[in-house]
Amino acid sequence: MGFADEWAGFGITLHTFFRKVFTQKYPHADTEKVMMPRFHGRHQLNRWPDGLEKCVGCELCAWACPADAIYVEGASNTEEQRFSPGERYGSVYQINYLRCIFCGLCIEACPTRALTMTNEWKLADKTRESLIYEKEDLLAPLLEGMEQPPHPRRLGDDEDAYYGGLPPTGQVDSRVPGKTIEAPKAGDAK
Ligand code: SF4
Ligand code: SF4
Repeated sequence: MGFADEWAGFGITLHTFFRKVFTQKYPHADTEKVMMPRFHGRHQLNRWPDGLEKCVGCELCAWACPADAIYVEGASNTEEQRFSPGERYGSVYQINYLRCIFCGLCIEACPTRALTMTNEWKLADKTRESLIYEKEDLLAPLLEGMEQPPHPRRLGDDEDAYYGGLPPTGQVDSRVPGKTIEAPKAGDAK
């Protein structure tokens, strides 16, 4: 290696020294980082429009997970204690974010679309225990017109009407206070 080669090396160092810094500060001082719409972040357990849970405790997500990061225990609903509209619900639901690799196989396996993934990516924490998310941490928030389970089905008189999303017309719509259900129009999405 000649004398000129050594100085060429220093030249690269000097050139890099004056380049704009690429590293981003965290927490972000100015604009928050926005992820792509289909980014795989923290999971969410979704609800039906009356607040009942979509999870039926079938454990398919847990079986599909290659990292063994999900633990589910199912239980039976009763008419007095109803958490989901059908027969079963997920009584225990945990995701271990120390294991999860955010591959999304669990949400593909879910038969009810109970489990989806949000864009939330800030999952760092200080203890191992706090990275095991319980059902309460994963459940979707209650929107307007939703009730905290347990409660009876509020949309339709039976399961068919509930899942079809077509409660009898003229009935009070529990999702929108003061509104009654109108007959569906041709071309309405089911
Ligand atoms: S995203 Fe992948 S690794 Fe994470 S819980 Fe789902 S299946 Fe398991
Ligand atoms: S999230 Fe879906 S796949 Fe997992 S237990 Fe609930 S219903 Fe079954």
